[in-house]
Amino acid sequence: MSFRITSFRSILLTLFLFLVTGCSVNPKQPVSLGSPPSESKNFSYIVQKGDTLFSIAQKFSVKLAILQYENNLSDPNQLAIGMRLIIPNLTTSISPHRMSTSESFIWPIATLDISSTFGARNNRHKGIDLRAPRGTEIYAAADGRVHFVGKQKGYGKVVILEHPHQLRTLYAHNDRNLVHSGQKVKRGAAIGTVGDSGNATGYHLHFELIQAGKRLNPLHYIKPHQFVGAL
Ligand SMILES: [Zn+2]
Repeated sequence: MSFRITSFRSILLTLFLFLVTGCSVNPKQPVSLGSPPSESKNFSYIVQKGDTLFSIAQKFSVKLAILQYENNLSDPNQLAIGMRLIIPNLTTSISPHRMSTSESFIWPIATLDISSTFGARNNRHKGIDLRAPRGTEIYAAADGRVHFVGKQKGYGKVVILEHPHQLRTLYAHNDRNLVHSGQKVKRGAAIGTVGDSGNATGYHLHFELIQAGKRLNPLHYIKPHQFVGAL
């Protein structure tokens, strides 16, 4: 008797679950390829020579304990060069430099692999490096005009876009540049592809955000989930 009651209950429960999930899922709903990933998307960071867990936590403004927990690193000495770390819940602040919502910048590439941060290499690194396979499309971070396209020493093949409020974005080490000088581009437009031209070790996008000649840390202004397309 008790078995019968239990099985009856489980049937009821199954039915209930089926009804609940059946209501919430609409299989005919079209999948939007343009929808951004969830806000909880985490960065990953590739450990460089000279990094410590503490310095990485500082770089990304995350608590050391959370960094350890997310990466299952009970001992900070387990850190090794080339290791990929999860950077949890990177909080960013947009707008201090009069960037209105309509002008907000998007992440310029469909990768979250940061191989070098702003200020790395004794503060000589004035951008961020985003590792991606050769040929990966690079997107215009905002609407603008092509200020420069061509080769520059160190940068290799580079595109510089001009935006309102004296803002510029720079995309370097490209394999191919897909725009011409003076061209107007829309946010999200493909402007080049990832390469290793110029002074680059490995395929990556070197991205800079510049305001009136001053290099800003892109991570303070651009949220990682604000890129076009899906990973
Ligand atoms: Zn770089």
